[in-house]
Amino acid sequence: MDIVDCHAHVASSRYIPDEFFDGWIENIEANALSMNVRQREVLANVFREINNDPMCDEYISQMDAAGIRRSVLLIIDFKYVYGEPFDDMLEIYRLHKEVVDRHPGRFICYAGVDPRRGQAGVDLLQTGIRDFGFEGLKLYPPCGFSPSDERLYPYYEVCEAYGVPVLSHIGPTTPSLSFSFSRPEGIDEAARRFPKVNFVLGHAGSTHYQEAAVLAEYRPNIFLDVSGFQAAARRGEFDALMSFHKKQGIVNKLLFGTDWPIHRLLGNQKKWVQEFIALQEKKILSTGELERIMAGNFNRIYTSRLRCAA
Ligand SMILES: [Zn+2]
Repeated sequence: MDIVDCHAHVASSRYIPDEFFDGWIENIEANALSMNVRQREVLANVFREINNDPMCDEYISQMDAAGIRRSVLLIIDFKYVYGEPFDDMLEIYRLHKEVVDRHPGRFICYAGVDPRRGQAGVDLLQTGIRDFGFEGLKLYPPCGFSPSDERLYPYYEVCEAYGVPVLSHIGPTTPSLSFSFSRPEGIDEAARRFPKVNFVLGHAGSTHYQEAAVLAEYRPNIFLDVSGFQAAARRGEFDALMSFHKKQGIVNKLLFGTDWPIHRLLGNQKKWVQEFIALQEKKILSTGELERIMAGNFNRIYTSRLRCAA
């Protein structure tokens, strides 16, 4: 069976800063009520370790073990939150291209841009697609903007022209970022105004999965990536979540994803692929439905010539 992971990142503190994981540790600490300095340090080191595979060599070996043919590497523009390391996005694009070239045929890259960069950001996106061969736009609204912000319209025009999708993070994230723009309905206006652009809601809406499912049901150009389901699996709610999507009639809108390396602590890539294959054995999904989620639906989010020509 063909398998495409539509949501992954290059594991490196250069692209996912330590502050990102430090926020998670703060949450674990707050919920556990007590954590001594030593425990905190151990936890910080664990997160540093999972976030250290800058050339994706470890990720490739996990993809091979799991039978994942291709993965989408999403670049995030954190400039307006974490500052200076993200000033030179072009260099970050170049480094991602190096990873793509190192493992021919295995990775697709999406350009990350914050719309507050204005025209320079639009140029950046265009350079990413045209010169680096990137095949989508990744947005991270918790950095402080709505995905329906008018400043993004020129970016969506570029996506429309090249026939590439937009994948936006949805749901709460590390506490150093804003949760104000993380609801699925934030995409609605953009999706309505740009019916030829396909929008993928990250993590199938995460904690707002019902709202996301309604959008996927009613808007032809809204899809859901199911990455982050690992949290539901840990709670024993994965089967129920997938049954919910099936009952909603939106199986053809679901894209398999893992959000590598974020959930590495919960299990390897093979384990997550097997969780999906087990859905077929449990008769929650048919073989055809499983195949579409694992790869078929991903191909459908490409609407035009760019991909056909590739
Ligand atoms: Zn992600």
